[in-house]
Amino acid sequence: MPREDAALPEFDRADCPKGLVTRRQLREMQLSPGDNDGPVAILRCKLCALRPQWCCRHPTRGFLLRVDLAKPKRVPSLAQEWALDRAMAARSTCPQCERRYWFCLPLRTQGSCDPCARGYEPSLDTYVTPAATPGHRLAA
Ligand SMILES: [Zn+2]
Ligand SMILES: [Zn+2]
Repeated sequence: MPREDAALPEFDRADCPKGLVTRRQLREMQLSPGDNDGPVAILRCKLCALRPQWCCRHPTRGFLLRVDLAKPKRVPSLAQEWALDRAMAARSTCPQCERRYWFCLPLRTQGSCDPCARGYEPSLDTYVTPAATPGHRLAA
């Protein structure tokens, strides 16, 4: 099939316009296709450089996407939040009374919360009560 009849414009690696990259290059740039809803051009394979008049139908051709439409890869924010929450929980939960406080505990030096270390009842507003975290409890 002559190159002129190709559905998408084709470029050789040497004359590939700036702003067009393959999916793989996009991945390497930590980008996702974003608003690209399909390839806008074809990066011809090496073989085709020798036959510029023919369109590339070879398996090693690359599909080119527009960098300006690409978006930064979405980070798994929920997983990140959980990891952060676990880390926070570890630092604010007393291993003795298993209360989780609103602040970090001196676990490295004291090993427990102040009330455990000194033997008094913590006031209600210093630790997380089950009612304060309805998301962690199943509705009755
Ligand atoms: Zn080719
Ligand atoms: Zn405690």
